[in-house]
Amino acid sequence: MTLHANSDAVTAHSPTAAETGDRIEQVKISLAFLPLATPVSDAKVLTVRQKPLTEVAIIFAEIRTRDGFEGIGFSYSKRAGGQGIYAHAKEIADNLLGEDPNDIDKIYTKLLWAGASVGRSGMAVQTISPIDIALWDMKAKRARLPLAKLLGAHRDSVQCYNTSGGFLHKPLEQVLKNVVISRENGIGGIKIKVGQPNTAEDIRRLTAVRQALGDDFPLMVDANQQWDRETAIRMGRKMEAFNLVWIEEPLDAYDVEGHAALATALDTPIATGEMLTSFQEHEQLILGNACDFIQPDAPRVGGVTPFLKIMDLAAKHGNKLAPHFAMEVHLHLSAAYPIEPWLEHFEWLNPLFNEQLELRDGRMWVSDRPGLGFTISEQARRWTVQTYEFK
Ligand SMILES: [Mg+2]
Repeated sequence: MTLHANSDAVTAHSPTAAETGDRIEQVKISLAFLPLATPVSDAKVLTVRQKPLTEVAIIFAEIRTRDGFEGIGFSYSKRAGGQGIYAHAKEIADNLLGEDPNDIDKIYTKLLWAGASVGRSGMAVQTISPIDIALWDMKAKRARLPLAKLLGAHRDSVQCYNTSGGFLHKPLEQVLKNVVISRENGIGGIKIKVGQPNTAEDIRRLTAVRQALGDDFPLMVDANQQWDRETAIRMGRKMEAFNLVWIEEPLDAYDVEGHAALATALDTPIATGEMLTSFQEHEQLILGNACDFIQPDAPRVGGVTPFLKIMDLAAKHGNKLAPHFAMEVHLHLSAAYPIEPWLEHFEWLNPLFNEQLELRDGRMWVSDRPGLGFTISEQARRWTVQTYEFK
């Protein structure tokens, strides 16, 4: 991997960024569609709110500076939104040209103002995400540190659990096989999907998985927002016996009060936050005491910059952290969280990158590669349908 074109820049006596006055010279935005091997269903599909998921839209940002430094970042969207994010990125990305790439907060504010008319959450900030992530990647590469180390890590590895083996389109027998495979591959926990219209079926699957894992192996469930308040408390009480690490998204993602009441009523911890799309939405969740585990998603909330603000607030309030999806970015962020976090293992994005994360002893390990530690694969280039370059 070439960190940057100018090899002089990595020597011990190389000039600092401040001395050279390095500036952003080129920004490339790409839209790719990552196909999934089989259509994927969670409870939202079984309650007929969504169609099975067949692909993930990926929006890459690749940023280069005059001195030859490079940063890559990505955002994503499931089902809809990828084309919209790409189109909005084309509208705002020229604001980066000529900026000092180290002034990430200044650039973030500039991009927010460029798109002020479409707000400070949702697609507006999901457009900034790949750019912001790329700038942090570049900053860490310039410092020749993994991003976790640049941020100030509390640990070199993060305990991680598998989600992809426990979706609802998979028959129970397959889920049980996946559980065994995950454990053999060194995974530290298993999460299965629940929230089906037939709650007895949820309990049947959960009972079988708990029996297969034994009483103490970390196990979580995820209802993907498909229970009303009454069902959530009934199911929560039934599930107390299963020694779960958490119950995820029992209620509508924006029901702060409902989550807070549930978290108070149950011994089992409550986790939520993956659907929220800004710092401000997470702030409401945290200040509303809505959950034990907060689950922000860096591409979804607007990148590393707002994610760090969420981490600060959550740590102050004693929340645990279990970021959603995008382990390639979240490994670094969760390594820098003061309270022992959980990382969600999703192998879906593996084909996009030339490098793979190391899973061992139930944990995902931060590599010694600088930045995020990833380069974009040829396969990702083949899945790319649109590219736009600013110079
Ligand atoms: Mg979830």
